Amino acid sequence: MAAPPYHDEILRSVAEDVRATLAGELGPQPLAALIDEVFTLNDTLTAALDAKEPAALRRLPVCRPGCDSCCRLHVVFVTPAEALRIADHVRTTRTPAEVEALIAALREVAPRVAEMTVKERAEARIPCPLLDAHGACSVHPARPLLCRAYNSCDLAACLTAFGAGDPDTKLPCNANQAVVGKTLFAALVLGGGAGRDLGPLELIHGVLTALTAEDATNRWLLGESVFSTEHARVSREAAEGWEVFVAREANR
Ligand code: SF4
Ligand code: SF4
Repeated sequence: MAAPPYHDEILRSVAEDVRATLAGELGPQPLAALIDEVFTLNDTLTAALDAKEPAALRRLPVCRPGCDSCCRLHVVFVTPAEALRIADHVRTTRTPAEVEALIAALREVAPRVAEMTVKERAEARIPCPLLDAHGACSVHPARPLLCRAYNSCDLAACLTAFGAGDPDTKLPCNANQAVVGKTLFAALVLGGGAGRDLGPLELIHGVLTALTAEDATNRWLLGESVFSTEHARVSREAAEGWEVFVAREANR
């Protein structure tokens, strides 16, 4: 999918806002509030870009709660900040016993997926541990940007890809939603990584660390090494590319 011309402008502006906020230059703001602002921006920008298109050309996603084959087919990457936001959401919306049950589920799945490739994950169709019993995302308000970006206008194409265990099928989709979500994800990597763990993290390992590492949010913000890309093969393989991306973009 070709990136539209606003891609670069949004990336730079949001990355700078994230960097300045995390550096305290814009006044105190909890990390969760910053990430929620990015999520709100994601929805606002997507809607604004959709509204600029003629109604006849607008592509409407058919995604809905309970339609979960994408959450079983794909590896999801998150930034450390997103993993921490999910952990915060879990702690504030679940009982201690429910939090422990989720940690146990994550611990059970993490070693199974650790050395899998993207293709092997798709073939294994391992459900995201954050799916609820009805096939809906149990952390929907805090779900990752790449989950927000992923969408489809053709459920049959999703089911065909799922049946084939094919993570590379190109789905007809709302391009604005896809590009905005990916752009903001990149902005979090670029703006949030200065002196801190950069990610990108495989979702299951990232959330498990965010839930179990002591005082994870404050330590990550202070630049301590909390998250590791070493836990998952896909993270190790992606990490080098993200370091190159950040080095290149930081020097432009
Ligand atoms: S991407 Fe496909 S499988 Fe996922 S929610 Fe949308 S329509 Fe359903
Ligand atoms: S975080 Fe939510 S939307 Fe993303 S893969 Fe998991 S269940 Fe699906």
